[in-house]
Amino acid sequence: ATPTALLVGTGRGAQLGILIKGPEVLESTQAVDTIVLDKTGTVTTGVMTLVTMDAADGVDKKELLRLAGALEHASEHPVARAIARAAADATGDLPAPAGFTAVPGLGVRGQVAGHDVMVGRERLLRDAGVELPADLAAAKDAAEERGGTAVAVAWDGAARGVLTVSDTVKPGSAEAVRRLRALGLRPVLLTGDNARAAGAVAAEVGIAAEDVHAEVLPEGKVAVVRDLQAAGRTVAMVGDGVNDAAALAQADLGLAMGTGVDAAIEAGDLTLVRGDLRVAADAIRLSRRTLATIK
Ligand code: ADP
Ligand code: MG
Repeated sequence: ATPTALLVGTGRGAQLGILIKGPEVLESTQAVDTIVLDKTGTVTTGVMTLVTMDAADGVDKKELLRLAGALEHASEHPVARAIARAAADATGDLPAPAGFTAVPGLGVRGQVAGHDVMVGRERLLRDAGVELPADLAAAKDAAEERGGTAVAVAWDGAARGVLTVSDTVKPGSAEAVRRLRALGLRPVLLTGDNARAAGAVAAEVGIAAEDVHAEVLPEGKVAVVRDLQAAGRTVAMVGDGVNDAAALAQADLGLAMGTGVDAAIEAGDLTLVRGDLRVAADAIRLSRRTLATIK
């Protein structure tokens, strides 16, 4: 009966939009007691829009957006796409950047129109010896207080402004969290984004503040999963980004969003084809039931 039951399970899975790498991955769903959720693109839509611009004294907002947008045009990050789109809408053609570098979890650097430009977390600027002046730091704090993701823009060795983008929680995410809890799983939110934006999303979907890990660098995501495992938990992880791949592989059960990047899909045990977080609960319920049929 074993092979037939597994085939039925995986066939039903395909109908629900769940792709399973192999029947052996179902085994870990029995013991899973914790589910780590990436924020951007997993709990939220990952489609960000530019909401506010704050420019340093003497800096033209249009120029701020043009230089930042030109650089971000070379990046695939959701923050980058929002800034590049807004810049193209506002200023038309963007100059092509030269010498572009992405620093995972921090931002981007490169040359635009003869300027040395950086866009990213305050930490990216600080690592290059650039400090945010008090007025921009206050603007960043205020934007984050409202749940936004604020990134700093610098060129030629000075901070020039703060651009704030924001994302929305997917319509099914709160229900997904409720259903995962009903299966006995403890949800944890994991993100490279700022603590206030992460806290706002956690509150909206019903994740406890103590279960939020924010400002985590890409290599830190796998460490969060490993620490939970070291504390005796059996961990499922749901993610969509390049930054999530190592954590998906480390988890006892890795669930990749089908809307995510190939690296995440390759690292996961299961793929949620439509990128609907509610299907994570279906996958675990179905898998447990399939295993119960076999035993
Ligand atoms: P998440 O875990 O939410 O997917 P990441 O680890 O990819 O986030 O990024 C963390 C933070 O690093 C972002 O919230 C942003 O502040 C900054 N960042 C990353 N990439 C970029 C970029 N291309 N442009 C500007 N900021 C970026
Ligand atoms: Mg993500």
